[in-house]
Amino acid sequence: PPDVEALGRSTWTLLHTIAANYPKTPSYTEQSDLKTFMGVFSRLYPCWVCAEDFQRYVEKDQIRVDSRNEFGMWLCKAHNAVNTKLGKPVFDCSKWEERWRTGWKD
Ligand code: FAD
Repeated sequence: PPDVEALGRSTWTLLHTIAANYPKTPSYTEQSDLKTFMGVFSRLYPCWVCAEDFQRYVEKDQIRVDSRNEFGMWLCKAHNAVNTKLGKPVFDCSKWEERWRTGWKD
């Protein structure tokens, strides 16, 4: 079975990096692609407990794809929900772009 921690770290890196490079004013196609990607992601993520909880989360807090900031903040909140579940500290979402776009050392 996959290493859930290593898989999680790599996956969050991919997802937040997608957010950081998502357009500020996405086209209809870009918005639709991101929605499709996240929907398929939530079904294929190879940590099944994680995927199940994440799908439940997405049903309650619907994904926002209208702009880079909307998606970045939505993803930050979603990641914080997992942090809370796992007893990890909550991340300050006003810093998501600094962490994932302009960059700092982890
Ligand atoms: P990670 O949580 O992997 O975070 C990596 C880095 O992201 C951090 O070092 C920090 O710099 C930054 N960061 C932290 N929080 C935020 C935030 N809110 N917004 C932006 N940046 C942030 N593991 C389980 O054991 N059970 C689960 O149910 C589970 N569900 C998951 C669901 C999903 C969709 C994903 C992608 C992962 C899931 N994981 C789950 C894995 C878990 O979230 C962590 O990735 C793993 O425990 C490793 O944690 P970490 O402390 O290295 O930091």
